[in-house]
Amino acid sequence: MLGDRSIIKDKTLSGSMQGASVHNVAHSPMQTTVAEIISFDGVGLHSGRFVRVAIHPAPANTGILFRRIDVTESRQTIAARPDSVRQARLCTRIVNDDGVGLETVEHIMAAFAGLGVDNAIVEIDGGEAPILDGSSLPVVEAINRAGVRLLGSRRRVLVVTAPVSVEHGGGWAKLEPCERLEIDAEIDFDDSAIGRQRFHYRHGAGAFERDLAAARTFCLMRDVAAMQNAGLALGGSLNNAVVVDDGAVLNDGGLRMEREFVRHKILDCLGDLYLLGMTMRGRMTASRPGHAMCAKLIGTLWNSPACFQIIENGATIEHSDGYALPEVAAAAAV
Ligand SMILES: [Zn+2]
Repeated sequence: MLGDRSIIKDKTLSGSMQGASVHNVAHSPMQTTVAEIISFDGVGLHSGRFVRVAIHPAPANTGILFRRIDVTESRQTIAARPDSVRQARLCTRIVNDDGVGLETVEHIMAAFAGLGVDNAIVEIDGGEAPILDGSSLPVVEAINRAGVRLLGSRRRVLVVTAPVSVEHGGGWAKLEPCERLEIDAEIDFDDSAIGRQRFHYRHGAGAFERDLAAARTFCLMRDVAAMQNAGLALGGSLNNAVVVDDGAVLNDGGLRMEREFVRHKILDCLGDLYLLGMTMRGRMTASRPGHAMCAKLIGTLWNSPACFQIIENGATIEHSDGYALPEVAAAAAV
């Protein structure tokens, strides 16, 4: 399914990596970016507004930057890093110092995390990313068609060195040291179509595309009216979400895979964790995870410098090179 469209297109790479697949690039010690501009469009899940997206290649150490091209140029950049994260209802919201925000970035961020794209500039002409089919699959397929290019700088990795935990909204999440990125999550819904589901994701070559990428967001039919009265899910439909009602999945064709619901929750966690600004090495365990909980977890970790180290090029570097995070501390205290 993947092989022929996942060839690196950069001919300047060292010989040993030429022709490697996106899978191999995802776990390279070197940073990456997309090989060419990737464009797509669609409606926002909550706003219902039609938006256009263009993902541009970016140099090493850029990270993931979103640009709201519908606002003044000096205010349009929102970096995908911990000090941008705000707690939001039913989506992930990032905001810059000028108060310009962007919602529902989690499925694009999950695609970047899953495929190992370290650097990109994502232009978007509205305040909410398009929901597409409700999963990360369309973005993954677009990135694989474009290819991923290695860059000449080593990756930075955030290594969890001591446990961190948070509680939120009747659930909890914890981070612990682990030799790789793992997410073990459980959900429990009283609708029998979902019920209690658990999945343990182990990040590795091809794992994101195999286990998570196609899992769609979901909701209960009985919650739709309340969400829409609150101005949420205005773009929602059976084309971009799994809708469950009284023990039944309403979508034609049913589910895409077994335990699709909890897999999507883990996809969301993976995308949210990538707002740390780099790949995390550690195990997240969660019960009833959600975006507000993930925002709290990221903020708590980032404000606990004794609980992680940032590793680059085999060396340990200090936690003082980046950004002070008063907003995250405030959000975590809510
Ligand atoms: Zn989601």
